[in-house]
Amino acid sequence: MRALVKSSASPGFTLADVPTPTIRDDEVLIQVQRAGVCGTDVHIYEWDDWASNRCRPSFTVGHEFAGDVVQVGSLVRDVAVGDRVTAEGHIVCGRCHLCRTGNAHVCPNTKIIGVDRDGCFAEYIAMPATNVWHLDANIPYEIGGIHDPMGNAFHTALHGTEIPGATVLVTGCGPIGIFAVGICAAAGASRVIASDINPRRLELARSMGAHDAVYPRDVEAAVRSATDGLGVDVVLEMSGVPAAIHQAFKEVRLGGRVQMLGIPARPMEVNFASEIIFKGITVYGVIGRRMYDTWIQMSQFLRSGSFDPTPVITHRFPLEGFEEAIHAIKSGDAGKVVFEIG
Ligand code: NAD
Ligand code: ZN
Repeated sequence: MRALVKSSASPGFTLADVPTPTIRDDEVLIQVQRAGVCGTDVHIYEWDDWASNRCRPSFTVGHEFAGDVVQVGSLVRDVAVGDRVTAEGHIVCGRCHLCRTGNAHVCPNTKIIGVDRDGCFAEYIAMPATNVWHLDANIPYEIGGIHDPMGNAFHTALHGTEIPGATVLVTGCGPIGIFAVGICAAAGASRVIASDINPRRLELARSMGAHDAVYPRDVEAAVRSATDGLGVDVVLEMSGVPAAIHQAFKEVRLGGRVQMLGIPARPMEVNFASEIIFKGITVYGVIGRRMYDTWIQMSQFLRSGSFDPTPVITHRFPLEGFEEAIHAIKSGDAGKVVFEIG
């Protein structure tokens, strides 16, 4: 089969012919139709410090996808040939303390497809049946193919927060931030203020329902006018940029909540006393998607019709167009970039 492979410990990908994966008794084989491209894939492409410390070439890249089940192992009961599916890309052990207490998203034994084992930028992928998630008949493959980052946004926006009626600031309107804007609008936030340094991304945030989409320098005024100077109830930090993280702590109201998804590239200084403790705020670190509460919530929002992620997808390429796909993401102007494979 054709697959996009990280073949050596150096920058770049190779479009190669590789053997079709074989499945274990508890796995299924999925023919990939659509696959989302993510910042993580760019790190692996560029072979930066994180990638070279984490990944062991050669392997197939990609962790966001949807497709059709074409083969099931002998122990698989609730997934059948012909099912339209996507999957949770974090493969967890199911046996550790965290897995057994409903916290599998922080399982220390997690293996990620396209990072720690073969991924989905290929014609076929083998997945444990437990990770498979069925798509409703009316959900297109390309929406199925972006459930992973959309799930990051659902997790960030809705875990432990009370969004109905709330004032919300979303710092960073990359694909995940833009999803989060749409989710908060659908969940009944009274005001969604979104910030980014990129005008195209602010435009996307507006199209997903942001009441204000502003540059970082204009956030303070937008928050003041929307909250009578109180500060917002909830901040979703979706940039990982230190200036935005400090702004998140500054603009959240006393006793409010900051949900942190963005990953700073380097360690950064935080004044715990003034930014967190004396404000009495709650800070929640987001990793992946909760298994499987986030997935249930996501499917139910999509079923309701109140949240349509389609405008976030701005670029579509065949696998052969991988250089252009990586370039589109690096430009900073793209929403979600998707490979059309099947
Ligand atoms: P992204 O990295 O493209 O989005 C970041 C956005 O922040 C960009 O649009 C950028 O222009 C904007 N930005 C830069 N400076 C800013 C500032 N001062 N104020 C406001 N916005 C600013 O794309 P993404 O894929 O949406 O990822 C968002 C973040 O989440 C990244 O840091 C990524 O590494 C991280 N991430 C975390 C998880 C997790 O599980 N915790 C999963 C996926 C991605
Ligand atoms: Zn575990």
